[in-house]
Amino acid sequence: MSSVLSKVAVVGSGISGAACAWSLARNGVSVTLFESARGPGGRMSQRREIAEDGKELVFDHGAPYFTVSSTDVLSLVREWESKNLCAEWKESFGVFDCFSNQFSSIEQEGVSGRYVGTPAMNSICKALCHEPGVESKFGVSVGRMEWLEKDNSWLLLGIDGQSLGQFEGVVASDKNIVSPRFTNVTGRVPPLDLNLIPDLATKLQNIPAIPCFALMLGFEQPLTSIPVRGFSIMNSKVLSWAYCDSSKPGRSSSSELWILHSTMEYAEKVIAEYGLQKPSDATLKKVAEELYQEFQSIGLSIPRPFFMKAHRCSS
Ligand SMILES: Cc1cc2nc3c(=O)[nH]c(=O)nc-3n(C[C@H](O)[C@H](O)[C@H](O)COP(=O)(O)OP(=O)(O)OC[C@H]3O[C@@H](n4cnc5c(N)ncnc54)[C@H](O)[C@@H]3O)c2cc1C
Repeated sequence: MSSVLSKVAVVGSGISGAACAWSLARNGVSVTLFESARGPGGRMSQRREIAEDGKELVFDHGAPYFTVSSTDVLSLVREWESKNLCAEWKESFGVFDCFSNQFSSIEQEGVSGRYVGTPAMNSICKALCHEPGVESKFGVSVGRMEWLEKDNSWLLLGIDGQSLGQFEGVVASDKNIVSPRFTNVTGRVPPLDLNLIPDLATKLQNIPAIPCFALMLGFEQPLTSIPVRGFSIMNSKVLSWAYCDSSKPGRSSSSELWILHSTMEYAEKVIAEYGLQKPSDATLKKVAEELYQEFQSIGLSIPRPFFMKAHRCSS
């Protein structure tokens, strides 16, 4: 490979892939980004749901927010804020203890240091994927990555074996491209043969995949019995986090939307019972009911929601 690359493929449009594509393009590299999903964001994406009465509900169903610990990233966040792509989520947050059935701590409102994309979590990725010099192809899965010695380049193939082009360099932003999990879920060989890059194989094994179920809830009325808009949950085997998605800046929902995250322990138990493949509707219904029951049981007078749907993710 030459030391200066002019044509690079990026696999994945989550925050890592999108930021990498943008940064390469800013430095004069021609970038083609491939994303299996229909839109950008990966684990920072949003989900549109239609309630029974036809109302459209939009949830950030992956990462609820991000924090900033480096000055370099903070200057980027300031730039995104100036373009209305993100904003600080200035609400109050707390910790709920299921042993004592009360909040063990509540943060002061307005100094959270938590940021969210606006008007949805994926807006930053969306903007980065459409920067000049980045050609983004959504709904295109990379099924195979082959190193062509004679051409000194990578050949990328789609899931059905069609050529996606040759590139001097490839950035893969998801460890799925080499993981046995890819085979478990899709029944296909992972796109990249790690025998080509043994050093990378070891490093990737050390990246954990933490399973989680998220429950999206829609309520007619604000949940006034909860004194905060987001809280972590201690001493529950089922729930780890709850937050009011519609309290984020830039959201326009007329309903009160909440999201609950399961514990890893709970998600692992469900996966052990039903397998790694996409959960069936029946499994997701059971999960939804169990997460909701736990939320109700913590003594916060939670009413029955008009919308309730679970899905699986990994953080
Ligand atoms: C429930 C939950 C809660 C979280 N909470 C927080 C939090 O509070 N704060 C925080 O900072 N982080 C949180 N995270 C973690 C955070 O969301 C992730 O670390 C981050 O979004 C990962 O970004 P990424 O770009 O590395 O990967 P991803 O967002 O996973 O992006 C990878 C992308 O690659 C695509 N892809 C994979 N294989 C292929 C292929 N073969 N061809 C084409 N495309 C492919 C995928 O579709 C995906 O879009 C949470 C995550 C979850 C799910």
